[in-house]
Amino acid sequence: MRVLNDNLRNLFGKFQCEQSDVKISFTTFCRMRPKEFNLTQYISRNRCLCQKHQNMALLLKSVKAAGANVPLNPEDFIKRVQNNDINANEIMTGVKDDKVSYEQWKRVDCEDGKKRMKIVQHQVSRDELAAFFIKQTCEFQEHTQRIKEQYKAMSDLKHGLPPNHVIVQMDFAENFTCVSADEVQSAYWNQNSITLHPVVAYYKNDEGTLNHYSYIIVSDDLGHNSGSVFAFIQKLLLPQMREDIPNIKHIHHWTVSPSSQYRNKGTFQVVSDHMNLFAVSASWNYFESGHGKGPCDGLGGTAKRMADLAVRQNKCKIQDAKAIFEWGNSSQTSIKYLFVGSEFITEVRSDLEQKNIKSVSSVRHHENQSSECSINENYIVLLPRLSFW
Ligand SMILES: [Zn+2]
Repeated sequence: MRVLNDNLRNLFGKFQCEQSDVKISFTTFCRMRPKEFNLTQYISRNRCLCQKHQNMALLLKSVKAAGANVPLNPEDFIKRVQNNDINANEIMTGVKDDKVSYEQWKRVDCEDGKKRMKIVQHQVSRDELAAFFIKQTCEFQEHTQRIKEQYKAMSDLKHGLPPNHVIVQMDFAENFTCVSADEVQSAYWNQNSITLHPVVAYYKNDEGTLNHYSYIIVSDDLGHNSGSVFAFIQKLLLPQMREDIPNIKHIHHWTVSPSSQYRNKGTFQVVSDHMNLFAVSASWNYFESGHGKGPCDGLGGTAKRMADLAVRQNKCKIQDAKAIFEWGNSSQTSIKYLFVGSEFITEVRSDLEQKNIKSVSSVRHHENQSSECSINENYIVLLPRLSFW
């Protein structure tokens, strides 16, 4: 069974932004959903697709259970709030009990010392629930608005992409695990993981048509942090992308926003120094957390399925990163595979650390309080081309 990773309305927005030349209605889009793909159930206890959507769904469920008349689907709820059909204050008048409980996904400390996402139960008074519900409703409204605006911004950018500008969308895929066709028990204990980092680069050709190149960056380094990203950009930009797309003047990076990978001081340093480093200017745009899976998701999945199939059909042996890189470039696909070794990434990582860039606390502040202005105010002088949503 497969589950869609977002609701159909958001996925339609994403489809329009990725396939701007295909004109279909929302109804047709919904009708064409393959039946083996189940719709998203936001209240899921074993997976957290988007924390904000899941938490709104859990809260609506608790508020309804406490006696209020409210839709359970977060998207329906926010649509009705925006249409002024309902409002959070009035909804809370339906809750009569003095003590109420609600659940929320939260990152908590576990016994093994690691932090994990878990559902945490809260017991609060009616007034406390009302205050929390109103605050969550406002934040969720901003969250859905930002998703809409980001898809529109990406779509507009693709339509009006100036000559010599390139949109680079990238994301880490799940690591590829090496297995062999005649796998023996002991092989399970020697399984190698390989980092796959799909990249899609959009550009306009001389006729003004939007084209793209698909790349998979392969590495034996499993760090997945700004050092890896910087190393990938260096390797990708110099020389591969320049070879494929001549005369690049500006790069619009678009990524998801995990602070460990893309939204951090290391990345900001790279963007601020992009012109010096690569003789190309750049801007960096972030998708709303939990909604940034775009073409890279499909590209990573395709690469993994093809590699798995080749191994199972005994067409190749993939035991390390170099092997998947060699197999990838010898297979008949339009995907270009690039290898970035762990030694190079370690060097880049230590270079970045030596720069000793100071942290700015409001990077977290943005995530928690959705206060874009404070970030922009802090960074605008240093990093005028960073876009926060
Ligand atoms: Zn969401």
